[in-house]
Amino acid sequence: MTERLAGVRLAPYTTLGLGGPARAFVAAGSAEEIVELVAAADRAGEPVLVLGGGSNLVVSDEGFDGLVVKVASRGVEIDGDRITVQAGEGWDELVALAVAEGRSGIECLSGIPGLVGSTPIQNVGAYGQDMSETIISVRVYDRRTGELGDLSARECGLAYRHSVFKEDPGRYVVLAVTYELPKDELSGPVTYKELAVRLGVALGDRAPLAEVRAAVLELRRGKGMVLDADDPDSRSAGSFFTNAILFAGEAAELELRAPGFPRWDMPGGSVKVPAAWLIENAGFPKGYRRGPARISTKHTLAMTNPELAATTADLLDLAREVRDGVREKFGVTLVNEPVIVGTRL
Ligand SMILES: Cc1cc2nc3c(=O)[nH]c(=O)nc-3n(C[C@H](O)[C@H](O)[C@H](O)COP(=O)(O)OP(=O)(O)OC[C@H]3O[C@@H](n4cnc5c(N)ncnc54)[C@H](O)[C@@H]3O)c2cc1C
Repeated sequence: MTERLAGVRLAPYTTLGLGGPARAFVAAGSAEEIVELVAAADRAGEPVLVLGGGSNLVVSDEGFDGLVVKVASRGVEIDGDRITVQAGEGWDELVALAVAEGRSGIECLSGIPGLVGSTPIQNVGAYGQDMSETIISVRVYDRRTGELGDLSARECGLAYRHSVFKEDPGRYVVLAVTYELPKDELSGPVTYKELAVRLGVALGDRAPLAEVRAAVLELRRGKGMVLDADDPDSRSAGSFFTNAILFAGEAAELELRAPGFPRWDMPGGSVKVPAAWLIENAGFPKGYRRGPARISTKHTLAMTNPELAATTADLLDLAREVRDGVREKFGVTLVNEPVIVGTRL
């Protein structure tokens, strides 16, 4: 039976090391336990926060006035090319397993913190790969209907840092994810320039899985994007802002303010603009500090709590200053990537 604890501080459960106490906290060791706990809380009208690895979460200093269900379910089932993984398994452990087994498709996602159950939430992606390429289906508990079900990849609506889970927050609890990872000693085509250069291959070439994993981990370490107790820059929630997606008219306005700005033209006429470029050119360099909160010295997009001396309010003050500065200079409003609980940006 699961133990219900009162007043557990959430800071140690987040990679930012931030967040006040939870009214109640329970670690759930199986899908059945997760469902039972969430269903009972819903019946009682008690707010629920499903907690994975806490690597994409900003929790308020006041904490969470409800039940925190810490996902701790384990299990990996392999059926041919399909692998079904319980939500509480570590994501990077799964990548390491896939690479060791010679299964291609997630090697570029090495070193991303967090649990498997969170990977569909924001369609986790990096170095040219994302979840939409390998997820086949997601086992969910639907809190609206009280039923268990499976969402196909299409039904998950996986798009750039977005999904049906973000569209309709709190409706679904992810219990397990099924990926298709075919046996292949080579990676998918390498489409990310920095990675291709590091591997010494041409864009679009493939490379041995273990080499790709090693190169990605090395690149990520250089940016403070691998959790490392000895690296204060890694006390973050990853990228704090998503890249800006502008409609053609908005992009034309930005062109007037910032001629020749870096851009990727997207299908449908919209334009993606790197948030890091906007932030740096609005006057916020790497290492920019506001009190105890700091932009990573290695990566402009990461807002950090380097000495573990900041509060959530400090971190959000910094993020707000950056967002407002970019809006003033470029007329573009950056959107936060991490989920903010109990407060707002
Ligand atoms: C150093 C660092 C580097 C990062 N690099 C990347 C990167 O390259 N690419 C990228 O996409 N992300 C990156 N991230 C962000 C983060 O690691 C991912 O978003 C990850 O998938 C979050 O997993 P988590 O288990 O920690 O989720 P949590 O932070 O615990 O939760 C995030 C959200 O998902 C919800 N949630 C969690 N589990 C479930 C579940 N089972 N069912 C329903 N809802 C759930 C939570 O309620 C919350 O709203 C990085 C973060 C850090 C700290």
